[in-house]
Amino acid sequence: MNVSRKKTKGITESVESDSLQLLLEFRHRVRACCEEARKVNGKPKIVYLWLCVTERGIGHGGPSGANGSGASTLALHEWLTIVDEAASMGADWLVLTLLTELGRHPDVFRIAEWAQKTHGMTIGFHLGVPTLTDAETRQLERFDRQKTRIMVRREDLDKMRHLQDLGFTIWTANPQEEGGKPDCQGPARMIYVNAKGELYTCGLVDGHPDYRMGHALERPLRAVVADPSVPHYVDESIHTVSPACDGCPSLVANFFRDNL
Ligand code: SF4
Repeated sequence: MNVSRKKTKGITESVESDSLQLLLEFRHRVRACCEEARKVNGKPKIVYLWLCVTERGIGHGGPSGANGSGASTLALHEWLTIVDEAASMGADWLVLTLLTELGRHPDVFRIAEWAQKTHGMTIGFHLGVPTLTDAETRQLERFDRQKTRIMVRREDLDKMRHLQDLGFTIWTANPQEEGGKPDCQGPARMIYVNAKGELYTCGLVDGHPDYRMGHALERPLRAVVADPSVPHYVDESIHTVSPACDGCPSLVANFFRDNL
């Protein structure tokens, strides 16, 4: 099923902004359709959706901002549609890299909740700010522990012990030393969307014009992924582990295979 942006917009406009209740009533129907589309020739194609959140939020500076006619922000229903599209292509992981406090933008929780409850996706909260308020911890407790991972840099792992006591699995966001060739699965199985809603080959090359694949609102993700004219690989000359690889699902998954 093609979950169109127009349909999703219509759904989300009919509910209060602080509630996903009505949206969740559609979850079984949407999920059933996505399960059908999840495999290509019997094998998963896209596995990971990786979104980046900054202090300003997610989705600032969309297509209208890019051409100078004023910045735009992706609305919640547009992010949910991106999740739907990625799920229909096989993605069963959503990683949210937060370069700001976890609770600063409540839509982060709504997007994650939609991904987990509608599509059964495993959620990775990659905390660039490795401290949590009580309110943020309570928000996390709404998520299925079996399908939630908390990621922080190695030096911050001790700050997350209380989440471990609550049953969460904590992963190292930077499992590999910087400077070497990444032991990652590469970007081919991943869709990366930065804080402006721009698509890049992966987090390592975020902001690098040679690796920009477009904007999430320009055309369906499926068309972008299938387009041979946009970059799908990172050149060997710059394929080196850096902090920009932190939280990369394609990297982290290779180090935590035992409890994926
Ligand atoms: S961000 Fe780094 S680890 Fe992830 S796919 Fe790109 S090069 Fe590999």
